[in-house]
Amino acid sequence: MSLEDLPPLRDALAEHGLLAKKAFGQHFLLDLNITRKIVRLADVAPGDRVIEVGPGPGGLTRALLEAGAQVTAIEKDPRFRPLLEEIAAAAAPGALTLTFADALTADESALMAGGPGHVVSNLPYNVGTALLIKWLTGPWTPASMTLMFQKEVAQRIVAPVDGDAYGRLAVIAQATCDAAIVMDVPARAFTPPPKVESAVARLTPRPDRPSPARLDALQKLTAAAFGQRRKMLRASLKGVGGEPLIEAAGLNPQARAETVDVAGFLRLADAWLAARGR
Ligand code: SAM
Repeated sequence: MSLEDLPPLRDALAEHGLLAKKAFGQHFLLDLNITRKIVRLADVAPGDRVIEVGPGPGGLTRALLEAGAQVTAIEKDPRFRPLLEEIAAAAAPGALTLTFADALTADESALMAGGPGHVVSNLPYNVGTALLIKWLTGPWTPASMTLMFQKEVAQRIVAPVDGDAYGRLAVIAQATCDAAIVMDVPARAFTPPPKVESAVARLTPRPDRPSPARLDALQKLTAAAFGQRRKMLRASLKGVGGEPLIEAAGLNPQARAETVDVAGFLRLADAWLAARGR
C-alpha cells in the first residue's frame, strides 16, 4: 500500500472505532486539502526532519509524508497506534517514527538525534502555549515552527506593543523569533468543531536570538511586569530591581508594561544581568 491508497480520514476513524476525546483536546482536520495547505505554508522540503505533536488520525502526518518529510510524531493517546501504524506502513520505509508520550516532557533533541528539525502541528489547545514556550526557550530550538493555535493565542504571539493582546507571550516569541499568522481556520474545518476560531502561526528563530541567560532574565522580568500589567513599572518591578533597574534600561518608571517594546524588555534583561555581574 502507498499513501494514495490509504482510506479517507473519516473512514479510517470509523474503521478503528475512534471518537474524539475532549480531555486530549482532540479536534481533527479531516480535509487533506487543508492539511496540505498547512504543509505548503510550513515550507517543508523533501528530507527535512519534522516533529509533529498530536498526529491523531494523521491528516497532517499524511500531508507531511507526501511532501517527503521525515516525521517523528508524538501522540499522547495510545488509541491511535493501530491507525498511525497503517500510515507508517504505507509511507516510505523509516519516514514516520511514532512515539506515544506526552510532548510536554519529550526530549526533542534526543528524538532528532541532536540534529535540526522543524515543528509542524495542529496543537492540542490545552497545552499549546506551554509547548510553544518550551520550544522558544530551549534547550532544543526548532529550525521553524508552523503551529495551529486558537486564534486568540495566535494573536497574542504576534501582538504589537501597546495593544490588548501584547504581553509575555508576544515579548518572548518576538525576542526569539520572527512570527506571523499565515492562515485563519474556521471552527467548521475541524471534527468536532471547537468553540473558538483557529489560526496557523509560523515562527522562525531570529539570528540574534537572546542567549539562555538573557532569555531567563527576560522571562523573570516579563512575569513581574505583566503579572501586574496595569501598574507602573516602578511598582510591578519593585521586587526585581525597581527604579534603578528601569532607569539603567533607559525606561520611564511611570510607564506600564504594555507600552514597553521588545527592545525595551531586552534592555531591562541586560540591566538585570549587569546588576548581578553577569
Ligand atoms: N493532528 C491531528 C489533526 O490535525 O487532525 C489532531 C490534532 S488535535 C487538535 C490534538 C492532538 O494532540 C490529539 O491527537 C491529542 O490526542 C494529542 N495530544 C493532546 N495532548 C498531547 C500531549 N500532551 N502530547 C502529545 N499529544 C497530545
